[in-house]
Amino acid sequence: MEKSTKKTQATNKKKLSRNQRRRAAKKRQAQKGQKAAPLKIYALGGLEEVGRNMTVFEYGSDIIIVDMGSQFPEEDMHGIDYIIPNIISLKGKEKNIRGVIITHGHLDHVGAAPLLLPKLGNPLVIAAPMTVALLKKQIENHQQKFTPRVLEVKSLKNPIQLGKFRVNFFQVTHSIKDSIGVIIETPFGNIVHPGDWRYDLDPVEGPKTDLNHLAKWQKKDRPLILMMESLGSTESGHQGSEKEVYNNIENIITQAKGRVIFGTFASMLERIGQVIQIAEKNGKKVAVDGFSMKANVEIGKQFGFIKAKKDTIIDIAKIHDYPKNKIIVICTGSQGEGRAVLRRIANGEHRFIKIGPDDTVVFSSSVIPGNERTIQGLKDSLYRQGANVIHKEIMDVHAGGHGKIEDIKLLLKEVKPTYLIPIYANHYLLREAAKVAQSVGIDKSKILIADNGQIIEFDKTGGRLTNQKVPTDYVFVDGLGVGDVSHVVLRDRQVMAADGMIVVIVTIDRKKGQLVQNPDLISRGFIYMKENKKLVEETRNQAKKIFKNMSKDGIDENYFKDKIRNEIGKFLYQKTQRRPMVLPVIIQV
Ligand SMILES: [Zn+2]
Repeated sequence: MEKSTKKTQATNKKKLSRNQRRRAAKKRQAQKGQKAAPLKIYALGGLEEVGRNMTVFEYGSDIIIVDMGSQFPEEDMHGIDYIIPNIISLKGKEKNIRGVIITHGHLDHVGAAPLLLPKLGNPLVIAAPMTVALLKKQIENHQQKFTPRVLEVKSLKNPIQLGKFRVNFFQVTHSIKDSIGVIIETPFGNIVHPGDWRYDLDPVEGPKTDLNHLAKWQKKDRPLILMMESLGSTESGHQGSEKEVYNNIENIITQAKGRVIFGTFASMLERIGQVIQIAEKNGKKVAVDGFSMKANVEIGKQFGFIKAKKDTIIDIAKIHDYPKNKIIVICTGSQGEGRAVLRRIANGEHRFIKIGPDDTVVFSSSVIPGNERTIQGLKDSLYRQGANVIHKEIMDVHAGGHGKIEDIKLLLKEVKPTYLIPIYANHYLLREAAKVAQSVGIDKSKILIADNGQIIEFDKTGGRLTNQKVPTDYVFVDGLGVGDVSHVVLRDRQVMAADGMIVVIVTIDRKKGQLVQNPDLISRGFIYMKENKKLVEETRNQAKKIFKNMSKDGIDENYFKDKIRNEIGKFLYQKTQRRPMVLPVIIQV
């Protein structure tokens, strides 16, 4: 039956003229095109991890992008500096990119921009003035030689048109100044995207956070879609207020018997400004140390977030000109970073600071996931040298930049979204955010949890997850090179780190088709050869055996190498239950 139908169709097809067929195909295509013009939203990173945040909005031939961040590598990614989003899905569509909006100056939102913007045809970047300044600094640090095209968002009142998207801005409270959120007007919904956000219900200055105004983007003909950063979705209560932090820091500084060494993120300009203010009130001097810290303090001054009298900030080399209780040092390295100032101080390698029992060291930052062990080691070292160490577990010397469970509830209550898309966190945190949302009455079917690359569609009938996915494989940055390191290289590094390597050197007399001498072995991180003479001898014999079984008329080097790699690998695993990397070297003489 089936067969005969197919046959009839085939005959009918033949009867149609070529032109008719072409027209029919065109019509089908047009119909399909009409039907298939939904709004597409997909993330190139940030839905399965903390960092690498980048979201693409595509409608017809218009694309806008929100954020372009980098990600810190996992512990077993040896030698990788950071990871950036994979932009392969945008290849060929560069001309459609109407703008890249950067919500704020943290690296997980802007860190990949210096490397990706030139690859995307240098599209227009839209960001608040200080974010633009930080981006330019990043481009300089990366030694990238291009001038970004930027549109500074100076007034939040003026919307901009990017292709068919109309973009409005609003102020967001976060742990860095000049954070902005966007409301993207599209035919199928108004999307509210605050980037990273928090509430401060008791700020040091200015009004408390209020996002009630966002509810008005719920329009009759268009649902309101909230894309919500969900990093704090497992933490109970509200995020602490900056006022409390300020008071605690003030107490520490006024009561310190000796120096106060204040470790924080270079991006925490507001906090740095407050420390300088408190220092001035108490007649103390401030020395700023660390490359990025110094650069950012300059940017902070330029934008008025840091106000300091002329003689308050002194050179680090001058700290010994003052009594110890008059000195505050603000520095980088609260994450335990290898070459940062706090690490050098702890290791006794700092040129001007040796830790003593009168010193107070303050860790005013949250722990970036993955850095826990390093920070513990750093604290241990400072405790050993007798410093009075103050960190979050002891006193509130830091309020994080992200909303916690009660903040999420408040945000949902204020914004009243129809659809919720949890973003910018690991998958389990997105799920937890969904639970919180359901607890305040958001319908489960309206919560869309996507993976990296998974396309979310919105059309007249509403929004849904699709099965379509764009590639989002890791792109590694190693030193200053992008993508030089592939998964293969990384796997090699992992193998070498776990089980070491062994080099098998075989020298062959080409004419005679004989081995010139016993194969040589070199081991690194696998076995200590002197204590494993038997295994070394057996491995050599294996190599000889493999050579013996090979055809002697014209040695196929690659085939021989593969053989050595596989068979010696197998042999060593049988003997040691370890899989070192086997590197064959064939020398033909
Ligand atoms: Zn942030």
